[in-house]
Amino acid sequence: MYINEHFLALPESYLFSEIARKVAAFEAENPQSAIIRLGIGDVTRPIVPTVIKALHAAVDEMAQASTFRGYGPEQGYLFLRQTIVEHDFLSRNITLEPDEIFISDGAKSDTGNIGDLLDSQCVVAVTDPVYPVYIDSNVMAGRAGELHNGKWSRIQYLPCNEANQFIPSLPKSRPDVIYLCYPNNPTGTTLTRTQLKKWVDYARENDVLILFDAAYEAFVHDEEVPHSIYEIEGAKEVAIEFRSFSKTAGFTGLRCGYTIIPKAVKGKTHDGKRVALNPLWNRRQCTKFNGTAYIIQRAAEAVYTPQGQTEIQANIAYYLNNAHTIKHGLETAGYKVFGGENAPYVWMKTPDGMSSWDFFHHLLHTCQVVGTPGVGFGPCGEGYFRLTGFGDAQKTKEAIERIQTLKPSI
Ligand SMILES: *Cc1c(COP(=O)(O)O)cnc(C)c1O
Repeated sequence: MYINEHFLALPESYLFSEIARKVAAFEAENPQSAIIRLGIGDVTRPIVPTVIKALHAAVDEMAQASTFRGYGPEQGYLFLRQTIVEHDFLSRNITLEPDEIFISDGAKSDTGNIGDLLDSQCVVAVTDPVYPVYIDSNVMAGRAGELHNGKWSRIQYLPCNEANQFIPSLPKSRPDVIYLCYPNNPTGTTLTRTQLKKWVDYARENDVLILFDAAYEAFVHDEEVPHSIYEIEGAKEVAIEFRSFSKTAGFTGLRCGYTIIPKAVKGKTHDGKRVALNPLWNRRQCTKFNGTAYIIQRAAEAVYTPQGQTEIQANIAYYLNNAHTIKHGLETAGYKVFGGENAPYVWMKTPDGMSSWDFFHHLLHTCQVVGTPGVGFGPCGEGYFRLTGFGDAQKTKEAIERIQTLKPSI
């Protein structure tokens, strides 16, 4: 049997294992050192009480024949889809039908699996730096071409850097699909409604599909930054949106997200027919997915209760406060810093033109602070460094005080 050789084209994902290896080696040599990790891309606050209560109640339902649930709908339970439509969209004047929402076990699966709907020859565009799932899943499907100097030959890279203030320019030649992630991981930057409208207009004029990852929408508080791409007129014709309870409500270990595929989003066949993507995704999910657990969907529903909202907002504020501590502390010390306002991520420029990895070593050895080298997220991440607000508040403060004592010479 022949294997899918595209898997062999994927380089080992060195980033996080390389970081772990280097930190372990440092700790072995310096057993007294108190390392603070600001590289973490996972939440650390526990699940809030209201959600835990709903989880317990749902578990108890499973113990009684009269309330036991077996297989649920592949699209997710209606109680959750209706709650989402009402609270995440109607509240922002966006009308969606429950059958335009597909509940899943998270946005990583959905952003990775959505490629099932695309032709193998589709040209894909991504921002650079980027969440690696968008690229690697296209490599596996054979849409990426060959890797040269950190870039895949058939993928279009849209640079995001200090020069363009992390606002990507529209592609020079038309791709078929564009992945956008806002608020952004790894840069923590956002697009305003006006800036995002350019992309929606471009997609409508050029018959391009936008895959919009809104995993961090809960961190948005600026009025001009949209929570959903459907706040932009016409987006329902060209965009699929991915949402997750992972960062919103700490579900990284519980697993729940959802994908919106409006019925108006269409692609085309080689003989020119227009085909809606919603029924294709429905067919895909019914064939390959059997829903996320009932108890988890009840837990997700509880996120939307008034008490649940109060509780999760406190955690989001905690992470955002950490991000502000990092951002303002680094700015005070003279560093150039981006993001961190409507996102848990702070993206800093390394001082003195240091490479991402040199700065990683520098911070580890001089102040025992761990972050993530920007180059790990794409070629345009070189010379940048990611710090996250997902850690402990006291430790975050201490880490920044340690960095401040270094003082860059810029
Ligand atoms: C964390 C994250 C997600 C969420 O993934 P889940 O599978 O829902 O946990 C999606 N997209 C980006 C860019 C992320 O950073």
